[in-house]
Amino acid sequence: MDKKPLQKAKEHKLKITRIIDEAHDTKTFRVEVPKNTEIDFLPGQFFMVRFWNNEILKRAYSIASSPTDKGHMDITMNLVGEFTKKLWQCKVNEHLIFTGPYGKFYFDESMKQDLVLICGGLGITPLRSIIRYCNDKKLPNKINLIYSARTPDAIVYKEELENYKKKNPNYKFVFTITRPQPEHKWNGRTGRIDEGLLRGNIENIENTLFFVCGPLQFVKDTRAMLESLGAKKEQIKTDIWGE
Ligand SMILES: Cc1cc2nc3c(=O)[nH]c(=O)nc-3n(C[C@H](O)[C@H](O)[C@H](O)COP(=O)(O)OP(=O)(O)OC[C@H]3O[C@@H](n4cnc5c(N)ncnc54)[C@H](O)[C@@H]3O)c2cc1C
Repeated sequence: MDKKPLQKAKEHKLKITRIIDEAHDTKTFRVEVPKNTEIDFLPGQFFMVRFWNNEILKRAYSIASSPTDKGHMDITMNLVGEFTKKLWQCKVNEHLIFTGPYGKFYFDESMKQDLVLICGGLGITPLRSIIRYCNDKKLPNKINLIYSARTPDAIVYKEELENYKKKNPNYKFVFTITRPQPEHKWNGRTGRIDEGLLRGNIENIENTLFFVCGPLQFVKDTRAMLESLGAKKEQIKTDIWGE
C-alpha cells in the first residue's frame, strides 16, 4: 500500500528566500529546504510557524507547495493580526521555525477516488498543494476545484490554477465571485457556492472524496449541502481556520 503512517513532527529552522505579493494584503513566504534535508509532509498538511527569536508567538499554516517541490516550501497568508503583522516586517534571509507536519486533512496515493476540492478565500492553500502533487505525480484522479473568492483580484494563484488545465486532462476548475462589481469586468460565475454548482461538479458521488477548506460557516454550509446531495460523512474532509 502507498499509505504512509502519519509522520512525527520535527522542528526546522528555514531561511526566507522569497516574499511574493499575491494579492492585496496577501503574501507568499517561500523558505529554503536545504540540500540533504528531507521535510516529510503530505499534501494538505500544516506546520506551526514561529519567529526564530520568539518561542511563544506561533500560528498554523498549511503548506501551499507540494512535497514534490524540492528545495523550498511556501506558506501564503492574509495580513490579519498579531502574527502576520510581525511577519510582514520580515525580510529575505531571515529565518522562521517550522514544526510539523500536522493534520489529518491530507491526500495520499492510496486515495484513488475523484477529488472535489472546495475552498473559500485563502482556503486554497492546502488544495493547491494537493493539485500540484497530483499533477507532478501524474496521478489519474479526476480533480474538480471549486474556488469562491470575494473579488477576482482576491483569487490567489489564479493564472497557475488556470494553467494546470493544459498540463492535466483530469483537472477542471471553476471560480465564483461573491462580491462582483461592474469595474471588475468579471465574465465568470458569480454568487456563493450552492447545491447546483456542487451537483454540476460531481460525476459519481459514491466514488468522490471532498476536501473543504475555509472559515467555519463556509465549511459548515458546504458540508450540509454535500450531505444533502448524498455524500457520506467519511467522504468529506474539512479544514477550518477562523470563525
Ligand atoms: C490548520 C490551520 C491551517 C491554517 N493555514 C493558513 C494558511 O495557509 N493561510 C492563512 O492565512 N491562515 C491560515 N491559518 C490561520 C492562521 O493560523 C492564523 O490564524 C492567521 O494567519 C491569523 O493570525 P494573526 O496572528 O495574524 O491574527 P490574530 O491576531 O491571531 O487573529 C485575529 C482574528 O482573525 C481571525 N482570522 C484567522 N485567520 C484569518 C484569515 N485568514 N482571514 C481573516 N480572519 C482570520 C481569527 O479567528 C482571529 O479572530 C490556518 C489555521 C489553521 C488552524
